Amino acid sequence: MPAEADEQGLGGIAPATRKRLHALGIRRWEDLLLHLPLRYEDETRLSDFAQVHPGDSVHLEVQVLGHEIGYRPRRMLRVLASCDGQPLSLRFLNFYPSQLAQFEPGRLLRVSGELRLGFNGPELVHPRYRVAQAGDPLAGALTPIYPTTAGLAQPMLRKLAQQALAKAGAIRDTLPAGLRQALGLADLAATLHTLHEPPAGASVASLEDRSHPAWQRLKFDELLAQQLSMHQHRSERRQQVAPVLAGSGALVAQLRAALPFALTAAQDRALHEIGQDLAQPHPMQRLLQGDVGSGKTIVAALACAQAIDHERQAVLMAPTAILAEQHFQKIAAALAPLGVRCAWVTGSQKKREREAALDALATGEAQLAIGTHALLEDPVRFARLGLVVIDEQHRFGVEQRLALRRKSEQAGTGQPHQLMMSATPIPRTLSMSYFADLDVSVIDELPPGRTPIRTKLVDESRRHEIIERVRAQCALGEQAYWVCPLVEESEALDLQTAIDAQAELQLALPELEVGLVHGRLPAADKAAVMQAFAAGRIQLLVATTVIEVGVDVPNATMMVIEHAERMGLAQLHQLRGRVGRGGLQGWCILLFQRPLSQLARQRLKVIYELTDGFAIAREDLRLRGPGEFLGARQSGAPMLRFADLDEDIALLEAARDWAGRLLAEDPAAAAGHLERWLGARADYLKA
Ligand code: ADP
Ligand code: MG
Repeated sequence: MPAEADEQGLGGIAPATRKRLHALGIRRWEDLLLHLPLRYEDETRLSDFAQVHPGDSVHLEVQVLGHEIGYRPRRMLRVLASCDGQPLSLRFLNFYPSQLAQFEPGRLLRVSGELRLGFNGPELVHPRYRVAQAGDPLAGALTPIYPTTAGLAQPMLRKLAQQALAKAGAIRDTLPAGLRQALGLADLAATLHTLHEPPAGASVASLEDRSHPAWQRLKFDELLAQQLSMHQHRSERRQQVAPVLAGSGALVAQLRAALPFALTAAQDRALHEIGQDLAQPHPMQRLLQGDVGSGKTIVAALACAQAIDHERQAVLMAPTAILAEQHFQKIAAALAPLGVRCAWVTGSQKKREREAALDALATGEAQLAIGTHALLEDPVRFARLGLVVIDEQHRFGVEQRLALRRKSEQAGTGQPHQLMMSATPIPRTLSMSYFADLDVSVIDELPPGRTPIRTKLVDESRRHEIIERVRAQCALGEQAYWVCPLVEESEALDLQTAIDAQAELQLALPELEVGLVHGRLPAADKAAVMQAFAAGRIQLLVATTVIEVGVDVPNATMMVIEHAERMGLAQLHQLRGRVGRGGLQGWCILLFQRPLSQLARQRLKVIYELTDGFAIAREDLRLRGPGEFLGARQSGAPMLRFADLDEDIALLEAARDWAGRLLAEDPAAAAGHLERWLGARADYLKA
């Protein structure tokens, strides 16, 4: 922020103080108003010394009896006082000689702090105090304690807050009166006064746990701003131009006819929703959400076919080379007989092969591109991109998704439609807030004939029994994965454990072909191993977590995960979803090693008890909080400061409903509210 604007922002405040305020994120008077107390002290009445206990917050009037400076164990000032005739000491570790005059015998002090039982009886350590006269009035309001930073003392913050409040009267309330009335919300100036200087008798508990009506009002403001911004983003998207790909053509029909199965009703519904979006003249922004194994890939492939039917190109990007390769194998094989050319783009392919692929995409000869992050690179160009599909979207950042979309802007062919896929369901509160700008299709049923996977928790000491289970399972002609632990500190160590495990397992199971796949393997080797596993030439596949997402080998029925206690819930759920994909009973064996942390214990319990991805995601959110859950998205979206998605669901719903109404009925008010709350940050939401 330029110095001048700053001057205006916090004019009259000394530069040193201003710097400290900046450190707290406070740049304008409005920011000071929203810098809210963490807690309050009650100096509106005196505590009854006969009734208080150690640990209580007290406010007392005391008479000084004398003071002494001690030097053991360190320099310290002890003020001896009496309160209602009972002795009480005040201890100060930091003090100035000039302070001593305030502690002459006979002086009256008002002191507050936490009562403790010290060596010499009741005491207050570093109490707040002031010299008083008999009959001084008590504070009219609770005393706020603000979050602060070094060098910025509470009295200074209080003074600044008071100055800001004096200006607050003039602050426009951005909520129309009708809205406030309907929801029973206080007006803004009153709300801010209440929060900074709650009247005597206000409920400290409800202020501190943020359930007080004043907090409700502020949280609503914040949630409304978020909703407005999402609405705005959505309507901006409606202004953009995308190709109209209305109706499915010959290719879609042929691809469907060639499938060895019928789509589930949920797949059909999702496809229908996608089809309707593709028929719009503005870009689709849809999330296809479905539990692992629910069959998202074929829905995406059919959507691509619809784009190709309309002479447009489509691109499918996956987060790992293994997954991209698998998509390529399956989709290209299905489409090639129908005359569609697919280009394969990854970071590790040979130069000649890559150049041929890029050429085919740039000229439009290839109608479909499948690959990894390499698709984002500069030389990749499309002749007439119509649809972008991003698999496992939570693995990509906002920037990466934007980069792919920009590819068609380069070609001047308008915005492409965008379909994102994820097996990590977004809990309702998040989809109503941070993801409210997306349309969502849910595949909420698994293809028929799947038997629920059975999960077992097994102590590492029983590893040999599990090896026998693998032997028995593979003897039936089925296959197994053995996933090795994540070694956070070292990729090299990670690799070594996988190599060791393969050697150990191959030795123990000589009748089986034991393969190994890990992140460091060259892409071509990785692909070869995965193909051998898919074809059944390898029966047991030892892997690092590279196989976490998306891999589909229906004959694999057993998943052994070592050190499951180290893995996150989403990861465990993804891994488990690799088995039980055919009609056979799937098994997931979670090997764990003691001691277990509290969190690890909770996670294992959740994954053991629940199989539904939604329920697991909800628990995950509960255990981790939204910050981590949001992953890449949080880098763009402003996090909520005041509202708590778990507790404020009713406010969130109200904000969602009112955002729509406000935009329709009072767009000026909506704009004013957005500006007040997000200012320049509103832009971030557009990703
Ligand atoms: P995910 O949603 O996890 O990406 P996939 O798309 O990999 O799931 O599909 C999982 C498996 O289910 C694949 O082997 C796929 O061929 C199969 N499949 C998909 N749809 C159906 C269906 N309607 N009926 C039977 N099998 C299906
Ligand atoms: Mg998938």
